[in-house]
Amino acid sequence: MPNETETVPTVTTGAENAPAAATKLAAARSPRPSTRPNGQWKIDGTEPLNGNEVWKQVDNGLAVRGRIEQIYSKQGFDSIDGTDLHGRFRWWGLYTQRKPGIDGGKTATLEPEELEDRYFMLRVRIDGGQLTTEQARVIGEVSRDFGRDTADLTDRQNIQLHWIQIEDMPEIWRRLEAVGLETTQACGDVPRVFLGSPVAGIAADELIDPTESINELARKYLGTDEFANLPRKFKTAITGHPSQDVVHEINDIGLVAVEHPELGIGYDLWVGGALSTTPRLAERLGAFVAPDQVSEVWRGVVSIFRDYGYRRLRGKARLKFLLAEWGTDKFRRILEDEYLGYTLPDGPAAPRPKTQGDHIGVHKQKDGRFYIGLAPFVGRISGQTLTRVADLLEAHGSSRLRTTPHQKLVVLDIAEEHVEPLIAALDEIGLSARPSLFRRSTIACTGIEFCKLAIVETKQTATDAILELEKRLAGIDAPHPISLHVNGCPNSCARIQTADIGLKGQLLPDGNGGSTPGFQVHLGGGLVSADRDEAGLGRTVRGLKVTAENLADYVESLVLRFLAARTDDE
Ligand code: SF4
Repeated sequence: MPNETETVPTVTTGAENAPAAATKLAAARSPRPSTRPNGQWKIDGTEPLNGNEVWKQVDNGLAVRGRIEQIYSKQGFDSIDGTDLHGRFRWWGLYTQRKPGIDGGKTATLEPEELEDRYFMLRVRIDGGQLTTEQARVIGEVSRDFGRDTADLTDRQNIQLHWIQIEDMPEIWRRLEAVGLETTQACGDVPRVFLGSPVAGIAADELIDPTESINELARKYLGTDEFANLPRKFKTAITGHPSQDVVHEINDIGLVAVEHPELGIGYDLWVGGALSTTPRLAERLGAFVAPDQVSEVWRGVVSIFRDYGYRRLRGKARLKFLLAEWGTDKFRRILEDEYLGYTLPDGPAAPRPKTQGDHIGVHKQKDGRFYIGLAPFVGRISGQTLTRVADLLEAHGSSRLRTTPHQKLVVLDIAEEHVEPLIAALDEIGLSARPSLFRRSTIACTGIEFCKLAIVETKQTATDAILELEKRLAGIDAPHPISLHVNGCPNSCARIQTADIGLKGQLLPDGNGGSTPGFQVHLGGGLVSADRDEAGLGRTVRGLKVTAENLADYVESLVLRFLAARTDDE
């Protein structure tokens, strides 16, 4: 979970707007004090500069797996070393979850140990979002047997389980790894899950299938020491689909399929995007990456982050801060000169998408069968749901499904005669192929139910609002789904700044001297998509706050006002 507190100016960029973006960026950059070391290994040496850097050099997070297997799982929660518990465990997808019943007003005042439960959240990484029915069934069974039937689809294509006990981890890993699943580097200061187009290899309109590139990255770099100690997390997104369906603008590295006039299909390279409390969209380096160069270019960009990333302050230890200092020209030059040893060809920007990238609904595959995008409520499913999906797919002749960066599922390889019966069966277990505008594009972070940093509840609040809005606004004629992103604190795990309506959890005065859960409102954000020319970060509307209780009222009135006043091109 992010915890960035220092700020740099916000910059908005777009694929077709590089000169303007560069001007804005230059104006926004402020000089950095030159005399103070920033903990950049290549400049300042590897001298530890903050507490995390000290223990990471002593023993990186990958090493804790042995202690979990040999000691902690046998001797129980109380035997766990504090640095392992709050640091290295993340390298294996494990975080302690919040103790139930502690209200959001205490999040900032209690010590971390007082907020912490003896149970864990466990993140299963799903590179490219690609799952077989066998794997989905195993995650479902792990959830049923060890996680009180919890399972959330995250907005990074992972599946997150809760109520996990340390004693059960060896058996959980045994079951997951037996079917090719991992929790390795699902969290921590490492390359996280590799986002990939959820329709890779199957969509009729795909430019290129990135699956082999994603598999190569996982094969070569996952669980190795080379990138086991980065300054902070490093996020990757790769897509070959023209809808640009992997939110590449908010990843540390994004590779977006594009056709080069002389060199054919390859990727447009973006770097330095990330949200949290200091949001910054990625920028194009203007370089074309051939499919067989993906692995080494990715390795070069991660190596820049490892070697030059700031390690003095955790709040500045993301690639976006280095990019803000260097600018795109210098970044590309260092990549080519110091890491690749050759020059990348200039390349064009990928054209603006013409379709929504959430893949909801029924779509024809390149082989004539169909894929179906499904919406649960805000990513919340269960172990039983996963098991049932696996059973239903197999009964309808399929063995493949995908998770998406929008907390949704896509099921693949459905023959035409099975499409409607399968949709009806999935609808009965809470997965809709034809969701309302609001259910389709609302996402919510973990929130106070399990997150130690949370101030307010999110999943149920968002679900209640969707159900209410479905009743009140059933017949509206909106031009596209209205995205509502609900976050339990300022950290923006559910992408506050990239939504039409972004909500940042905070406590608000209740009028009686107390407080009530609510949200600060951000309006007008969005990534490059079928409905906008340019990515942009939403603006905080000063003084505009809404209580959780009044969320549906607020969204209803906002949508009705927008629809009444909008022009044809809005
Ligand atoms: Fe992230 Fe939500 Fe937790 Fe805040 S409350 S850290 S946004 S999951």
